[in-house]
Amino acid sequence: MRVHAPGKPLALDEVPVPQPGPGRVLVKVLACGVCRTDLHVADGELADCRYPVTPGHEIVGRVEAGGRRFAEGDRVGIPWLGWTCGECEFCRAGHENLCARALFTGYHLDGGFAEFAAADERFCFALPEAYGDAEAAPLLCAGLIGYRSYAMAGEGRRLGLYGFGAAAHVLAQVAIAQGREIYAFTRPGDAAAQAFAKRLGAVWAGGSDELPPEPLDAAILFAPVGALVPQALKAVKKGGRVVCGGIHMSDIPSFPYALLWGERRVQSVANLTRADGKAFLDLAATTPIRTEVKTYPLEHANEALADLRDGRLEGAAVLVP
Ligand SMILES: [Zn+2]
Ligand SMILES: [Zn+2]
Repeated sequence: MRVHAPGKPLALDEVPVPQPGPGRVLVKVLACGVCRTDLHVADGELADCRYPVTPGHEIVGRVEAGGRRFAEGDRVGIPWLGWTCGECEFCRAGHENLCARALFTGYHLDGGFAEFAAADERFCFALPEAYGDAEAAPLLCAGLIGYRSYAMAGEGRRLGLYGFGAAAHVLAQVAIAQGREIYAFTRPGDAAAQAFAKRLGAVWAGGSDELPPEPLDAAILFAPVGALVPQALKAVKKGGRVVCGGIHMSDIPSFPYALLWGERRVQSVANLTRADGKAFLDLAATTPIRTEVKTYPLEHANEALADLRDGRLEGAAVLVP
């Protein structure tokens, strides 16, 4: 299911099975999660998008051929970070997520909205066995970018999550298992999403236009809405952090300096490193996380994207070829 031009529905194309090439694995796709970034690719909201492109960067696949790191038949995960140069100042400093020449799956490189995908084996992950194929898919971006955002949010106990979708529903379970309190902010009036958050253990759930009952230590924004930045700054206490977990966001409106005053911080999170992925997947192997997924046949990718766009999902959408 490929994007041929921004703003157009994905098209069901017949293309040759990719050739793995040196150091790369060919996988048969078992499941591929649908992420908000796929919507940004389909809508042409990211710089340097090439078309046509096969989106999808939460790929759970079975190795068919190629590479040395995995055996034929191994189940692997292919994430957003598809390749880095290893030479630039960021790579050398351990910040490969910021690599100047990084290539991303489902954006620069063809992704997993397909029956087969190929990837550089160095960037693939082994997956914890406890998770089914569809259940493992959301761990690969919603889970591990959420986890990187969580690390950026610091150690505070009271954590706000703006936008309670795929990433938040995974992260809330991890945070609660670590003794944090979750405050869930949804679209105003979205009673179903608020009930979903409470069912997963949030101590409070309300609209994003509301303030929490207690000032927060930190807030993470998963909703791609710039207007939530000043809103979240109002909700965090002095020294608090507001972490923007998405790759794209509408413009942030201007706001009084008083909202930032008191050493509050606003920070973005870009991509992932392989170390993030390993740390999170190790944690997922020992912390039982129940990913709530809605599966769609591969050729229904447009329906899955529409459900994500319109906020009709509880948890994550996953395509199954
Ligand atoms: Zn680099
Ligand atoms: Zn993603």
